[in-house]
Amino acid sequence: MPEDPVPVSGEDLHRALSEVARVPQLLVASDFDGTVAPIVSNPADARPLPAAADALAALARLQSTSAALISGRALRDLKVLSGAPAEVHLVGSHGAEFDADFLDAIDDAARARLAELEQTMAAVAQRYPGATIETKPVSVAFHVRNAVPEDAQEALDDALNAVRDWDIHITEGKAVREFAVIDTDKGAALEQLREQLDATAVVFFGDDVTDEKGFQRLTDGDVGVKVGPGQTLARYRVDSPDDVATALEYLVRARRG
Ligand SMILES: [Mg+2]
Repeated sequence: MPEDPVPVSGEDLHRALSEVARVPQLLVASDFDGTVAPIVSNPADARPLPAAADALAALARLQSTSAALISGRALRDLKVLSGAPAEVHLVGSHGAEFDADFLDAIDDAARARLAELEQTMAAVAQRYPGATIETKPVSVAFHVRNAVPEDAQEALDDALNAVRDWDIHITEGKAVREFAVIDTDKGAALEQLREQLDATAVVFFGDDVTDEKGFQRLTDGDVGVKVGPGQTLARYRVDSPDDVATALEYLVRARRG
């Protein structure tokens, strides 16, 4: 990944958004945590900013416009926490879960690997106070957000070592390392949505390293917006979920006009 780009001004992003708002078929997609929902210490307490949720729903209901949330969360959690109406497309598990039928798509071998993975990670988590595991349909996330700070890295490394010889797909996040029994990728999910919805251009908001796979798939007519600090392939950057809400509201107005 390149070094942090020269910070773009709000004016540049504004210009890019007003340009992209004029395409025939627009897809506005966003990550959930840290993007439309502020980060909280208990993942179950995360909720979208009302302004962001309202704007996303409004975009989804506009003609020739689609909206989507693409999250690392399990689809059913994303559905509950986001409170998004049916018009907003939801993609869970970093792009692996497009709908409720997804569970049937995992074969017995993958299911067995997932059970073994869950056991292994639970054993590692037990050794570190505050470390927790979260089991999803195709993965186990190992969280150290609430672990003793001095232990956090060691706990993450132990989790990795425990499955070193396994055929497993690893995704790094903020204070979390996720282990999936099948390959998942937000970029592929974004491409699938773009195709399905026949989008002329895509706007994508993300804050975490997993979102880089999404930014990587964007092309010239698209707008990628990184939320917060850190290296990124996105061309634009904003500070916080409040800024995402503002950008979404702007898109609603521009798309209506
Ligand atoms: Mg996020």
